[in-house]
Amino acid sequence: MKNPIYLDYNATTPCSTSVLDAMIPYFKELYGNASSQHHSFGWLASEAIEKATNSIAQDLRIKPNEIIYTSGSTESINTIIKGVYRKNKIKKNQIITVKTEHKAVLDVCTLLEKEDAEITYLKVDKNGLISLEELEKTITNKTSIVSIMLANNETGVLQDINYIGEICKKKGALLFSDITQALGKINLKDIFFNVDFACFSAHKIFGPKGIGLTYIKTESKAHLDSFIQGGGQQRNLRGGTYNTPSIVGFSIAIKKSVQNIHFNNRIAKLRDYMQEKLLEIEGTKINGVEVDRLPNTLNISFDYVDGEKLLFALSQKIAVSNGSACNSSSVHPSHVLKAMGLNNNLAFSSLRISLGITTSKTEINIAIAHIKESIELLRNNNSLWINRSI
Ligand code: PLP
Repeated sequence: MKNPIYLDYNATTPCSTSVLDAMIPYFKELYGNASSQHHSFGWLASEAIEKATNSIAQDLRIKPNEIIYTSGSTESINTIIKGVYRKNKIKKNQIITVKTEHKAVLDVCTLLEKEDAEITYLKVDKNGLISLEELEKTITNKTSIVSIMLANNETGVLQDINYIGEICKKKGALLFSDITQALGKINLKDIFFNVDFACFSAHKIFGPKGIGLTYIKTESKAHLDSFIQGGGQQRNLRGGTYNTPSIVGFSIAIKKSVQNIHFNNRIAKLRDYMQEKLLEIEGTKINGVEVDRLPNTLNISFDYVDGEKLLFALSQKIAVSNGSACNSSSVHPSHVLKAMGLNNNLAFSSLRISLGITTSKTEINIAIAHIKESIELLRNNNSLWINRSI
C-alpha cells in the first residue's frame, strides 16, 4: 500500500512527537510508582502527575480534583452512567439519552434496562438535533441522569449543551456529556458550567491511546460511589497504579489542542472546499450540513452506491470510515444516520471523512479525485443507477 491519505481523525489521531517526547522519560529513568511515597522515584512520578493534572485543569478551566483518569471515554461513560444510576436507582430510575449517542452510551443503557432502568431515547430531527422542548418535558423527578453528547462522532453535529445544561439544572437532573470529539476542535469555554459529568480521550487529540479522563463536578460527586476498588488511588474513586507516562502525554496533548484551536479555521475551510467539490457528484447529500458542526467532519451520502464497496475501492488510497470506527465490524447501517431519517440504502452509502490539523489541500484534492473516480466506477456497474428514472 503506497502511503494512503489519512482522513479518519475522528477515529483516532497519531501521537504527536512533543507528546511522545514528554512521555518517554516516564518509561525509562522516571519509572517510579506514584503511590510509592518512601523514595524519590515515587515522589518524582507523583510530582509529574500533580503537574500534569494542574495543567489539564487550567487548560480545561476546571478544578484539579474534578479529574479522574481512566482508560478512555468508553470507561468514563460506563462508570458515570452505571455509577449514577446504581447509586440512585431506588428513588430515580429513568435515564434520558439520545438515539444518536455513541454505542458506549447506548450499550450501557441497554444493560441497565435489565436492571430496571427506564430509558428514554430522544429522537433527533433531520439535522441530528434534539428538541429542547421535548427534553424539558421528558425530565421528571424520576430522572437519574441525562446523557447527551456535545459533538456527534459520525456527523460532527453539535448539540446546544449550554442550554441543555440549563434545562437539566432547572429541572433538577444531572447532566453527563460525552465531549470526546469536541476537544481540540471547538472552544469549550463555559461548557462545564451546567455539566455535572463529562469524558475525554487522549487519542482523539494527538495523545496516546488508553488514557482518558472523567470530569466530575465537585458539587455532583456525592452521586457516585467508588468505581474501581483497590489501592485507594484517585481519591478512592478509581484504584490502580497511575499511568504516569500517559497522564503526562495527555496533559501535553490537551495543552497543544487548546493552543492550536485556531488551526481549525483552516481545517473548516478545507472541509468546506471538499464538501463543495464532492457535491458536484450527482445524487450526493451532506448530513448535518444545516446546523453547527465540528470544523473537521464531513458526512456524505451517495445515491446508488454500496458503502462497503466504496470503502473497499478507496481503502488502498484513502482512509475514511462509514459510521463510527468503534463499531465498524458491524454491517448495520449507521444508527446515527437512520435516526436522522435516512433510509437503509442511503445510510449504507455514506462516508465519514474527518480531517486533522496537518491535512493539506493536496491531500484533499487527491482524495476528491479518488472518491469521484470510485463512485463513477461503482455506479457504472450498477444497473439500478444506469436504469434510474431521471
Ligand atoms: N465517545 C465518542 C463520541 C467517541 O467518538 C469515542 C471513540 O470513537 C468514544 C466515546 C470512545 O472513546 P475511547 O476510544 O477513548 O474509549
